[in-house]
Amino acid sequence: MAGMNGLSVRGLCKGYAGRAVLRGVSLDVPAGERFALLGPSGSGKTTLLRIVAGLDHPDAGEVQIGGVSLAGVPAERRGLGVVFQDPLLFPHLTVGENVGFSLRLRGERGRALRARVEEVLEQVGLSGYAARRPHGLSGGQAQRVALARALVTRPRVLLLDEPFSALDTPLRRELRGWLTALQEATGTTMLFVTHDQEEALNVGQRIGLLLDGTLAQVGEGQAFYTRPASVTVAAFFGGVNFIPGEQRGGEVRTELGVFRVPVRREGRVTLTVRPEALRLADEENAVRGEVVASEFAGTHRRVTLRAGLQRLVWHAPPHEAVTVGQPLTLACPASACWTIPAG
Ligand code: ADP
Repeated sequence: MAGMNGLSVRGLCKGYAGRAVLRGVSLDVPAGERFALLGPSGSGKTTLLRIVAGLDHPDAGEVQIGGVSLAGVPAERRGLGVVFQDPLLFPHLTVGENVGFSLRLRGERGRALRARVEEVLEQVGLSGYAARRPHGLSGGQAQRVALARALVTRPRVLLLDEPFSALDTPLRRELRGWLTALQEATGTTMLFVTHDQEEALNVGQRIGLLLDGTLAQVGEGQAFYTRPASVTVAAFFGGVNFIPGEQRGGEVRTELGVFRVPVRREGRVTLTVRPEALRLADEENAVRGEVVASEFAGTHRRVTLRAGLQRLVWHAPPHEAVTVGQPLTLACPASACWTIPAG
């Protein structure tokens, strides 16, 4: 299946004081993949990562690497590297001693130890820093030392929990690009936890969206926009247009007329279309209505169209001349429409 270093999570459940935090989470991260676990604060991401790391025990379910259960295997014997938001460096040790710490615990000494430390410091772009103390490092450098420390034992899986959240935006972008390149060079299986959508899209080859202790959707980033599994998933990714309808094959009958859609289903559905995908045109899937709001939002103009009892939000170009009260016809391109079976 997932290969030697693939990570599998099977039916994980965890609660605190009778409150369920993880409700049966199953997940496969194939060997060598960068997987981003995305979710709002409190959704259970850290709990899942701590269980994988062996820092916490599940109430039910198990974690496997390479198809072998880690039940009963202590944290330090799981073959993992872990990086948290706080680099947690020992202030009284040098950079090199921090990076080599777990190798020393394993009994490595001397030239081999120093060579391996220098090798990973070079991988994280900090060669020549071995003799420095952590206090002189910038936030980004300290986090790269933490990463070198996690990589020094050649882990089978690298776990990262919001590693760049304490840093400012330009630096975060830079570190993400750099982390991706490093992961590609080492081929380490990676589970990256974040609450930041842009970060998840940037880093993850695939994304798992954790909502309220359940994986709401797993897949490639674009699918969360174009093929959301539920209204909640669509809304989490900024979806705002939800129209109830009745679907027959590739057509949906709604209060606003009949829409052609790129997915065939039968029965009650919610039709959704991305606000940035609407077009100022009178063509297939057109909606006629009246503008009830038009707000400049920097990168776009947020236009709200009222059609019958429905509201449709369009992200227009920022300088599009649209004024409240004017009639407007917007087309919903069929390729940008999607339907969600009504629960
Ligand atoms: P996330 O990382 O997505 O923000 P967490 O996994 O940290 O979410 O937390 C999920 C929920 O579990 C939160 O409501 C949190 O308060 C609760 N929780 C986490 N750890 C503990 C603990 N040790 N004791 C009690 N509640 C906890």
